[in-house]
Amino acid sequence: MTIQRDTSGRLQIDSPFMGESMMDKSLLASTDTEPIYRLMPDLIVVKIGGQSIIDRGRTALMPILDELVEARRSHKILIATGGGTRARHAYAIATDLGMPTGVLAELGGSISKQNALMVSILLSQRGGIQIGHDDLVKLPNYMMPGILPVTHAMPPYGLFERPPALGRIPPHRTDVGAFLLAEVMGAERCVLIKDEHGLYTADPKKDPTATLIPEIDVNELLALDLNDLAVERSMLESLQTARSVREVFLVNGLVRGNIPRALAGENVGTRIYVKG
Ligand code: ADP
Ligand code: MG
Repeated sequence: MTIQRDTSGRLQIDSPFMGESMMDKSLLASTDTEPIYRLMPDLIVVKIGGQSIIDRGRTALMPILDELVEARRSHKILIATGGGTRARHAYAIATDLGMPTGVLAELGGSISKQNALMVSILLSQRGGIQIGHDDLVKLPNYMMPGILPVTHAMPPYGLFERPPALGRIPPHRTDVGAFLLAEVMGAERCVLIKDEHGLYTADPKKDPTATLIPEIDVNELLALDLNDLAVERSMLESLQTARSVREVFLVNGLVRGNIPRALAGENVGTRIYVKG
């Protein structure tokens, strides 16, 4: 970009987007030619499921926190927390009261934050520290030895959340929030800790014939158009267009040893990837 003097004698920045509507397709395509700066290419964003893990209480959560504290010695980890059952209650009541999607998203966000507070308190003697979304750009500095940052995974669309095509539940919840966090940080991958071995052809809690899908291309997965999924569709759509993160692991956190293996890069459940 150069600075030029216009005919009135004023200095102007000669920027390529000046006077553009920012809708022209070839102009938009031209903005994606340079590589993305990856703030933390060795970061792993680990989402602890709300319904699948935190709501199960002490017996499910504490061993997972122990594994994460141990793994923190050899990996850079950002813990992100889901919402879970309390968010679902809030969605049900708010829907009954006629609340729009944006209000539901606000409610869901505050519950994901409650879980981040509790997880950070449980970890506080072992390096756990709750950070807000505004602190994320300081994350490289929160990676001092032993520090284990915890944040809420609900993305901050809040009142601006887009009403979905089907129903009224906010389409961007904590799976996609954790994923987008990984993407903006230029992280290595996003690991979703849940209570099943991975993604199945159907919900294994409802369909005993469901079979595990160990590895799948995100485009193929979306094309399958499964009726139920272990991850939010919006997360899969975000992976399709991601520039940095190429894979998401789904891990059963109730099986000891799975988390350290996944953090070391091993697929112990389902790996959803994008080619290239
Ligand atoms: P979290 O609390 O981690 O966000 P959810 O409860 O929202 O987890 O989603 C995980 C749950 O999704 C699993 O426990 C499982 O019962 C259900 N599920 C639905 N469809 C599938 C599927 N195709 N494969 C695996 N699990 C599924
Ligand atoms: Mg969920």
